[in-house]
Order: sequence, then C-alpha cells, then structure tokens
Amino acid sequence: MKPCIFCEIVAQQAPASIVYEDDLCLALMDIFPLRPAHVLVINKRHAQYVHELSEQERNHLFMVGNKISLAVRQSRLQPLAVHFNINDGKAAHQTVPHVHLHILPRYKHDSLAFVGSLLAKPLLMLKGGASRELLNEQAADIKRCL
Ligand code: 5GP
Ligand code: ZN
Repeated sequence: MKPCIFCEIVAQQAPASIVYEDDLCLALMDIFPLRPAHVLVINKRHAQYVHELSEQERNHLFMVGNKISLAVRQSRLQPLAVHFNINDGKAAHQTVPHVHLHILPRYKHDSLAFVGSLLAKPLLMLKGGASRELLNEQAADIKRCL
C-alpha cells in the first residue's frame, strides 16, 4: 500500500513548512497552493473521513482551523476572505486520503488567478511544488500572527 504523505509529515519523515502543532493536529503550508498562504490543518491520527474522527478530534480540527484562519487574515498577505474546505472522499476530489481542512485565502480580484492555479496545478506538481523558502517564509509570517 502507498504510504500516506500526511502520516509521513506527522512522523517527520517528509519535509513540511509547519505553522502550528499540538497533540491532535498539525497545520502546514500546502505544497501546491491554489492561492498564496494556502494552509492545511491535518488530524495527526490517520483517518480518511471526517466521520472516522472522534468528536474531540473533529471539534479540535475546526477550532484550530479557525485560529489559523484568523492568523492568515492578519498575515502580511492580508487576504480578504478564506475558504474553509474539506474534501471528504474521492468523488469529492479528496486526493490525499487523510482528513485535512483547507484554509484557502482569497484576495482582491483573484478569481482568474484562482482558476489559473487550478489549471496550472499539474505543472506545479511536475515541478515538485512551490519553493520551500517561500513556504517557510509564509509559515513564519502566519505563526507570528497566531
Ligand atoms: P485534497 O485534494 O485531498 O482535498 O487536498 C490535498 C491537498 O494536499 C492538496 O491541496 C495538495 O496540494 C496537498 N498536498 C499533496 N501532497 C502534499 C505534500 O507532500 N505536502 C503538502 N504540504 N501538501 C500536499
Ligand atoms: Zn495518513
């Protein structure tokens, strides 16, 4: 079976730009961001679906997601809004089968850029993702605002 990339990140066996960590969850920069400062909040324990989480894990994920979203809003990039999004299953475009909450910032007049990022995502994947330096900078900026 293919190893789970988010479990590898939790186990510190794969690189990540970490924004926040506690006993239950981890927040990190999305390596293929749809918009700048795209953060994922992942449950530390492996589970594919939201209904597989304990009530405590589920509530905690959203509580941390809310804190991260406030920090993202206050960060240097100053988004106007954020999407809170969970793709819960393959048919709902879940590509990593490990529960995660997207905190996806939106900026002024960025609808075209958003669609452009969706279309360009395969190219970014071929490239191996966004620059680690940039992701680390954004993570540090968001961390400062927590
Ligand atoms: P999904 O499509 O499952 O809702 O979202 C999975 C997210 O994980 C995508 O936005 C994708 O860019 C991100 N992702 C996939 N692999 C990695 C990785 O190795 N590191 C990080 N930080 N994000 C990843
Ligand atoms: Zn996993």
